[in-house]
Amino acid sequence: MKIIKNGMKNGMTLYKNILWAVLTLFIVAAVFSLLFETGKKPLELTMTGLVEKINKGEIQTIVVQGNDLLIDLKNGDKGTAKKESESGLSQTLNNYGVNAKALQSVVLEIKDQSGFYFWMNLLLPILLPLIVIGAMFWFIFRQAKSGAGQAFSFGKSNLKMFGSFKDRISFKDVAGLKEAKQELEEVVDFLKNPKKFLEMGARIPRGVLLIGPPGTGKTLLARALAGEANVPFFHISASEFVEMFVGVGASRTRDAFATAKKAAPSILFVDEIDAVGRERGAGVGGGHDEREQTLNQILVEMDGFDRDSNVIVLAATNRPDILDRALIRPGRFDRQVFLDLPDIKDREEILKIHSKGKPLAKEVDLRKVAVRTPGFSGADLANLMNEAAIFAARNSRKIVTQDDLFSSIEKVMLGPERKNRVITQKEKEITAYHEAGHALVAASLKDADPVHKVSIVSRGRAGGYTLKLPLEEQHLRNRTQFLTDIAVALGGYVAEKFVFGEMSTGASSDLQQASKMARALVTQFGMSEKLGPQTFGETQELIFLGREISTAKNYSENMATKIDDEVRNFIDHAHTAAKKIVSSRRKVLDAIAKALIEKETLEQEDFNKLVGQFKLKPLGI
Ligand code: ADP
Ligand code: MG
Ligand code: ZN
Repeated sequence: MKIIKNGMKNGMTLYKNILWAVLTLFIVAAVFSLLFETGKKPLELTMTGLVEKINKGEIQTIVVQGNDLLIDLKNGDKGTAKKESESGLSQTLNNYGVNAKALQSVVLEIKDQSGFYFWMNLLLPILLPLIVIGAMFWFIFRQAKSGAGQAFSFGKSNLKMFGSFKDRISFKDVAGLKEAKQELEEVVDFLKNPKKFLEMGARIPRGVLLIGPPGTGKTLLARALAGEANVPFFHISASEFVEMFVGVGASRTRDAFATAKKAAPSILFVDEIDAVGRERGAGVGGGHDEREQTLNQILVEMDGFDRDSNVIVLAATNRPDILDRALIRPGRFDRQVFLDLPDIKDREEILKIHSKGKPLAKEVDLRKVAVRTPGFSGADLANLMNEAAIFAARNSRKIVTQDDLFSSIEKVMLGPERKNRVITQKEKEITAYHEAGHALVAASLKDADPVHKVSIVSRGRAGGYTLKLPLEEQHLRNRTQFLTDIAVALGGYVAEKFVFGEMSTGASSDLQQASKMARALVTQFGMSEKLGPQTFGETQELIFLGREISTAKNYSENMATKIDDEVRNFIDHAHTAAKKIVSSRRKVLDAIAKALIEKETLEQEDFNKLVGQFKLKPLGI
């Protein structure tokens, strides 16, 4: 794989290389000075001096190495001398008048001239500078080459590989998000034991789309997956596909996928895919060509994987609503993993994770901080923790106190970074009663789908949500079920009105949904007794406006009035039923709302246990 570094990194490596070169020089110099200058400097003797010492009997050995004499004195000193190059040692000594008898007691040793030592002595002074200069040139050229390479390889993807050990994280470092983690663990299992699944004829999922509001930990989760999966993990931000030059998006995409395929089994993570994955053809005035080509290339690449090519594409977005439908169809990003804003328990856990390495005062209760931060995302909480530490440090304290944490809540809330809305205590109460209303009506009516989860953690534009799923996959719904659905949809509005005396804007989308259902009941499904089995209106999809659907009216004004009346009737009927339930079961409503304010999220079990205490009789509609 070719990795192209970006400009800033280039600059950094240049400095690093220079540093290395200087350091190497330094070390080489140090080593040589050690090698050649051990201990005391040897005595430099003239020939006359040497002969004098021999005659006095002070010399132990003389080692002859070429023209150099290395001398060991009897008193332990060392010395050197030079003999004449033309004549042998004994002749030279004789010329200087050595005493033959004294010479006999001296050990003479002749060393081979062609020894390693000799050559080193000869060559090193010449070679060393050459080596150093050569190394420098090599560094500089390498630098220049990568710079030039960058200019010519913009069609290459800016693919980065995760997994450097320094910032390696695992699922442990991600709080909450249990379902998302499970889903991703399954993905890892696919990659590690593809046989198991292929033998069953199962198709390994191509793509997994992480969906969630900003700051909920999509990128973090992907990084954690990289740490867990133990397979090559490539990472690119979709905006990098279409960066600098026109026309490179498609080829970069090709390159990124090719790299991932070569390293299979592997994971390719495309962050912020909405940058290129926006619906094609939508919007007036034509699409962004470059973006469309890139998107098309992604689609082609995802189809191009063989059935058993072990590459899974992971992508993240916070705008699933604008993604091209071709991207989400089976065979591409067929798996979608939702990341919600954290509830009170998860918030506490996130705070705990980010308090690591920050000395907290003993009295600090992170739960209390979690209670005060509904609507905060993981990123907000991380930010809060950091602000608290900064605040403590600025006041020259060594520990973070509870007050530091509390005052940082406001700071983060008011700060410019926040994108999600924050809920006040009053709002929280209203939302709790609203959701409790939905849940209570659903739990009371015989034909309603069971409640799977009630939560006041905001999701999308809704303040909270009550998740009810049908027992079995249903394609056919009857009139009673529709009426029940409408009553459940109105439950939130009814509860708000009943408890607080007025409705909030939070109920408006419910009303919209209820009206839509009632209208469909009459105009599309022909379920009105009065109007009989017929449909009204002709729907038509207008492609050039994106997903807009327009309905052409094909009935008379007279009929329109009748339709409106029937819709009104259905809604009234459901409204009455919902009102009856909420007013006669106020105690249950209060209990659910209280539990929601406390825990923010009620899973199916908790909810059933809570409502079960009241032994409610199932009602018809
Ligand atoms: P996004 O969903 O926008 O990609 P990020 O993954 O970049 O969000 O999250 C931003 C930061 O918020 C993370 O680096 C992390 O510090 C913090 N964070 C978000 N969610 C969690 C979580 N569940 N657990 C721990 N930290 C989190
Ligand atoms: Mg992100
Ligand atoms: Zn509602």
